[in-house]
Amino acid sequence: MGPRHPLRIAAALFALAAACLGAHAAEYGGPLFDAHLHYNEEAWDGDSGPYPPAEALARMQRNGVKAIIANSRPNAGTQTLAAAQETRAAGVTVVPFVRLYRNRDDYSNWFRDESIYEMVQAELARGTASGPYRGLGEFHLYDSANANGAVARKLIVLAEQKKLAVLAHVDDTAIDLLMAHSPSKGQAMRLIWAHTGIGGPPVSRVRTLLERYPLLMGELSYRPGLTCEGGMLCPEWRDLILRYPDRFVVGSDTWVNQRWSAYDQIMGGYRRWLAELPPEVAQRIAWGNAAALFGLR
Ligand SMILES: [Zn+2]
Repeated sequence: MGPRHPLRIAAALFALAAACLGAHAAEYGGPLFDAHLHYNEEAWDGDSGPYPPAEALARMQRNGVKAIIANSRPNAGTQTLAAAQETRAAGVTVVPFVRLYRNRDDYSNWFRDESIYEMVQAELARGTASGPYRGLGEFHLYDSANANGAVARKLIVLAEQKKLAVLAHVDDTAIDLLMAHSPSKGQAMRLIWAHTGIGGPPVSRVRTLLERYPLLMGELSYRPGLTCEGGMLCPEWRDLILRYPDRFVVGSDTWVNQRWSAYDQIMGGYRRWLAELPPEVAQRIAWGNAAALFGLR
């Protein structure tokens, strides 16, 4: 066939059209790792609630969520998901984290409450039906100085020694304080920064922290300034993600039931801005970075 053969021209046009469509895909179509998921008692208390395991798992499955960092208040929710037959049927891998809260009072006391440290030890010893716990958190520090609480210090040391990740909802000042308490001074500390700072510290500050702590990862739910018009990445965030493609993850943060009801929209929002990134970068943020952290295939 010569170069001007109609079939060859048609094939070339088809390939060109496919390439254009690929470059402007509306959504990232690969797997997602939900790296910030709560299964709290108001979602389902083991008996009643609007989101029993079958319902929660159906939401993950239809959104292509293949793995989750699961944590819950109390830890019974994580234990349930880790053991549920529905979890395996949905093809979801549970990476369990120990939540530091038995109830809402613990949010503002965990960092100085010795009984929380004991609860963590007991939970770690117990493990889950999906294997040992892989991390601690999510925990909150509304006042960064509480990173210096006696129990906060002990938990950070424990996490690094046991190679547990921590999921921390803290400000940028507390990142430095927590890292300073780890035996390696933050060089071997696997810290997932929930929301990458919900107060919205500047991108330049986020970058400084990423450079200072090699295993620091930013989770992007609720991140102020992340997306601009049409839900697409703002330019400075696009630049940051392209510069550190192995340091960001995404999560649903189902901290209240409204987030379960909006689960499709939350994941759809991620899929839209992921599609603007080069495919290999999108795959890392959506799946690969969290999967590598926990040794998933
Ligand atoms: Zn959360």
